[in-house]
Amino acid sequence: MSITDPTPPERADFIREIVAADLQSGKHEGVVTRFPPEPNGYLHIGHPKSIALNFGIANEFGGRCHLRFDDTNPIKEEQEYIDSIQADIRWLGFDWGEHLYYASDYFEQLYEWAVNLIRAGKAYVDDLSADEIREHRGTFTEPGKNSPWRDRPLEESLDLFERMRKGEFPDGARVLRAKIDMASPNINLRDPALYRILHAEHPRTGDRWCIYPMYDFAHGQSDAIEGITHSICTLEFEDHRPLYDWLIENLPVPSHPRQIEFARLNITYTVLSKRFLRRLVNEGHVRGWDDPRMPTISGLRRRGFPAEGIRDFVAMIGVGKADSIVEVAMLEHAVRDVLNRTALRRFAVLRPLKLVIENYPEELTEEMDAVNNPEDASAGSRKLPFTRELWIERDDFMEDPPKKFFRLAPGREVRLRYAYFVTCREVVKDAAGEIVELRCTYDPATRGGDSPDGRRPKATLHWISAEHATPAEVRLYDHLFGRPDPGADGDLFDDLNPASEEVLNGCLVEPALAEVPVGETVQFERLGYFCPDADSAPGQLVFNRTLTLRDTWAKVQAQGTHAV
Ligand code: ATP
Ligand code: MG
Repeated sequence: MSITDPTPPERADFIREIVAADLQSGKHEGVVTRFPPEPNGYLHIGHPKSIALNFGIANEFGGRCHLRFDDTNPIKEEQEYIDSIQADIRWLGFDWGEHLYYASDYFEQLYEWAVNLIRAGKAYVDDLSADEIREHRGTFTEPGKNSPWRDRPLEESLDLFERMRKGEFPDGARVLRAKIDMASPNINLRDPALYRILHAEHPRTGDRWCIYPMYDFAHGQSDAIEGITHSICTLEFEDHRPLYDWLIENLPVPSHPRQIEFARLNITYTVLSKRFLRRLVNEGHVRGWDDPRMPTISGLRRRGFPAEGIRDFVAMIGVGKADSIVEVAMLEHAVRDVLNRTALRRFAVLRPLKLVIENYPEELTEEMDAVNNPEDASAGSRKLPFTRELWIERDDFMEDPPKKFFRLAPGREVRLRYAYFVTCREVVKDAAGEIVELRCTYDPATRGGDSPDGRRPKATLHWISAEHATPAEVRLYDHLFGRPDPGADGDLFDDLNPASEEVLNGCLVEPALAEVPVGETVQFERLGYFCPDADSAPGQLVFNRTLTLRDTWAKVQAQGTHAV
C-alpha cells in the first residue's frame, strides 16, 4: 500500500467500506461525519452505536466528526438536554474538538435557500390546514391530490413566506411546501412541508424566528454547509433519502453529502425512545433521566456502567442494515468483563445477622490482609479489622438446611474469608422466634483462612466487624421492564417491572467503602458490582447495584445457542 492510501479500518463494515472506497477513488480528500442529536431528551444506549460509528470512522480515516444539534423544534428542546448530551458524549470518550454546531446557526441561510426554491418555482406557500394536507396526501396505494394553492403565482408565495417570517399569521395557518410530485410512490416526495409557523421561544435564537425549518429541510442542508461527506443515519430515513438528494440537487449548496443508513440498536427488556423515556420521567415512574434503571447514558453511568463497557458492547454488535434485537445480557456481559478486570473487591453485608465468636478475646482487634483485586496484582491489598462480634449475610445461615445448602448451619464449620474457620454452636432467637444471633467458636490455627491439617470447609463467607461496620443504604436494581419485548401485547406501562428497584436499609459495609468516590464501581464480594450513588453523604452512604455476578450471556455463549 502506498502512503496515500487511507488507514485500513479497524473493523470493517459496509459503511467503512464505502468511506474507504470514496477516499481511494479520490471522490473525497478527507472524511467528515457528524453526530446530530435533537436536544429533546437525554442520550440513551442506542446513541453510542451512532456516536462510535461517526467518531470512530473520523478517527480511523484521519478525518473529523462534528457534533451538531438538530434544534429545529423549539417546543420540545431545552438547554438542559444540550448540556447533558455534551457531557455524555465526553464521558463516553469521544471529542468533537472545536466542531460544535447547531442547525439554528443556519436559520438565515436556510431561509434564503427556501426563497431560492420559491423563485425557481420549486416551492409554494400552502394555505391548507394540517388536516386538509393530510387528506390530500393519498396513501401507500393511492396517489395524492394537488393543493389548490400549488400553482399560485411565485410573487404571492414570496410575499406570504416573508409575512410568515414577520409573524403575521398564527401557528398552523400556512406552510411552505416543496413542489415535487403528489403522485410519487414515495410519500416523502408528495410536496413535503419545508417550513411551518411556530410562535415559540427557541433555546438559542429566542424569539427571533416564528417559522422553523422541518427536519428534512434542515438536515441535509446543514450537512452540506459543514462539508459532511458521509451523513450516517438510521434506517427509518431510507425513504427520506430521495428528498434529501432532491434538495441538495436543487439548491446552491456548497457540497454534496451522501446519506447512508444503518440499522438502529434495539435491546431486550429496554425501550429506546426519547418520547417514552420523557414520559417515564414526567409521570414519576423513575427518579429522573439519570435513574439507574433508565437506558440513558446518564442512568447507566449512575448505575455504575463504565464507559469502556459501553464502547466494548457497541464494538461487539457491529454495524449492519438488518433490524435486529440484541440481548441485554450482551451489554451486561461487556460491562462485567470490564468490571471483573478493574473493580476493587470489598466486603458488604446487605441483610446482616450477628455472629459472636465465644472463644475470641473481647478486646482483640486483628488486621486481616485482604486482596483488592485478584485480577490485578497492582491493586494491592488492604487490612480488614476482625473482632469477636461480626455481621454475616442472613442468607448464609440456615437452621435446618436442605441437602444442597453448604453454608453455615448448626454444628457446621465454614471459612470466614481472609480470617478463620468458625463453627456454629448455638442459635439465639427473640420472643417472636426470629433468629437474632449465632454463637460460634473459631479455630485459632486457621488464621488467614487455611487449616494446617488440610481441613476444607465447603463454604467461604464474607463478614464485617461489628465495631467497624459502616451503615449504608443499598438500592438493588433489575430490568425496568418485566418482559423482553415490552409493549408487545399492549401498553408499555403495563409491562414495567414492579420489582425493578428494591431499597435495603440497614446494610453494613467495610470501612474502606466510605472512601469510594461517586463514579467508581466496586465488587461487593459474592454479591455483585455496586457503586456509590450521588445521594451519598458522609455517614449516609448509598450504593446502587450495577449488576449481579451472574453472567447469563457467557452461559448462552458457552451453550452455543446464540451467535454474536
Ligand atoms: P429517539 O427515537 O430515541 O428520539 P432519535 O433518532 O430521534 O431517537 P436523535 O437524537 O434525533 O434521536 O438522533 C441522534 C442520532 O442518533 C441519529 O443519527 C439517530 O439515527 C441515532 N440514533 C438514535 N437512536 C438510535 C439507536 N437506537 N441506534 C442507533 N442509532 C440511534
Ligand atoms: Mg428524533
